[in-house]
Amino acid sequence: MKKLNDFKNDINKCSKCGLCQSVCPVYKETGNDCAVSRGKFVMLDGVLKGDLKLNKNINKYLDLCLKCGKCTDFCPSGIDVCKIFETAKYQYAKNTLTGKIIFSLQSKLVFGNFINFFKYITKPFRKSIKGKSPKSLKLLYFKGCVNNLCPKNDNYLNKILKNSDVEIIEKDFDCCGLPFLSSGNLDRFEQVKNHNLKMLDCDFDYILTDCASCESTLKQYMNAKFINIGELINLLGLKFTFPKPLKVTFHKPCHLENDKFLIPLFNNCENVKYIQMDAYDSCCGFGGEFSIKNHKISKAISDKKAENILKTGADYVITTCPGCIIGLKQGLAGRKNSPKVLGLTEFLNKSL
Ligand code: SF4
Ligand code: SF4
Repeated sequence: MKKLNDFKNDINKCSKCGLCQSVCPVYKETGNDCAVSRGKFVMLDGVLKGDLKLNKNINKYLDLCLKCGKCTDFCPSGIDVCKIFETAKYQYAKNTLTGKIIFSLQSKLVFGNFINFFKYITKPFRKSIKGKSPKSLKLLYFKGCVNNLCPKNDNYLNKILKNSDVEIIEKDFDCCGLPFLSSGNLDRFEQVKNHNLKMLDCDFDYILTDCASCESTLKQYMNAKFINIGELINLLGLKFTFPKPLKVTFHKPCHLENDKFLIPLFNNCENVKYIQMDAYDSCCGFGGEFSIKNHKISKAISDKKAENILKTGADYVITTCPGCIIGLKQGLAGRKNSPKVLGLTEFLNKSL
């Protein structure tokens, strides 16, 4: 396991250019330099030099981050910002009482069995995704924790793919690991990573995902070909006819690498008009535990998103991340004429 000290050179690579400020949703909302990577690096440099202690004040600023990765993508020095924050968080949290409690709640015994329990009790309510023969495409499906808790997505996928020649392979995957990275629980992250890598021991063409955050986390440790549900629908050339004209808009999750599927997919939806909202790729404000620890900032970012959504006059706002669905609902709550927030597969099921 790497220590903060191992990132000394990376932290020193920060030229303090401040370009990360222009993309950081938390900085844009707060104007606080400690919210963005540059400010955090100044503090962590102080820790490494022994001038500052890695204490709860610095931890507060480590938590003031949506883990959206926008600064990593933008940083001209090519610093893997989130890796450094996660390591600092681990080094701090593993020695505190709160950290120890959170880590034990995230353990395989507690969190792992909680998910397994839901997998078991929801089994009768899930239709297995069969597809038709011959099966030319083998897809190893990474379901993710939200879909393990709630069976409806299996049923949406089943309806969408039932006439396609695909084989859906289901394995006993654990969580992708993102919540553990966010809270600095790197031991648990290593555990799920090692478990999930063992699940790749089968013949498949792509790993299929329908959550952008899961996919981006898996890509950190899986060397395999991925396809998201939108890309798969386009590859299969699926068409959808909706019973009445609808206007839709799309929120691009921060972790969604490729949204090129979007326009062709909506072009194949009869009676659907796609309207791109302003800043369609700006953060929804959720960020998992960020929305609890920094609720006011989270809500303010969601509110800005909601205003852009409302300007489109859309009937539905669609996305491909269960976390973003919560962020979008947070911003739209209590507003007049709000569109419904739906995951892509649920929306497409409205045509079937
Ligand atoms: S963009 Fe990168 S190099 Fe520039 S201040 Fe931010 S972290 Fe440092
Ligand atoms: S990961 Fe996102 S929220 Fe965190 S510092 Fe970078 S841009 Fe800001």
